[in-house]
Amino acid sequence: MPGRKLIVACTAKEWRALQDKARATVAPPDSYSWRFVWSAAILREGDFGRARLSPTSQEPEPGKRGQAIVTVARGLAEDHTEETMIHEMAHCLDSWAHAAGRGDHDSHFWLCYGAVWRAMKGAGTG
Ligand SMILES: [Zn+2]
Repeated sequence: MPGRKLIVACTAKEWRALQDKARATVAPPDSYSWRFVWSAAILREGDFGRARLSPTSQEPEPGKRGQAIVTVARGLAEDHTEETMIHEMAHCLDSWAHAAGRGDHDSHFWLCYGAVWRAMKGAGTG
């Protein structure tokens, strides 16, 4: 199909651009900053992505920003890398908003996913 990009692994340049877009378009949980990690190891372990807040509590130490850490497997295609980022960013926003112990992918998670997806895809906020 003419004009269609070959499916190849996301390049370092594309990964940097995705991080820039994520920082510019998606606000992290209050008192947290985004930290993006590209990992070759997690794909071998069977994961496309992982998310965690550090510290895990909803209140980082006073005066200190916590980190919302999004890890994405290195070796995925660019589109898949972006989808995985969106998914894991939604987990960060979801676990900030809710206490631990909920289902992983409950209805609130999918609302967070939708908000991140819309921001990343430039679909506007209306
Ligand atoms: Zn998930």
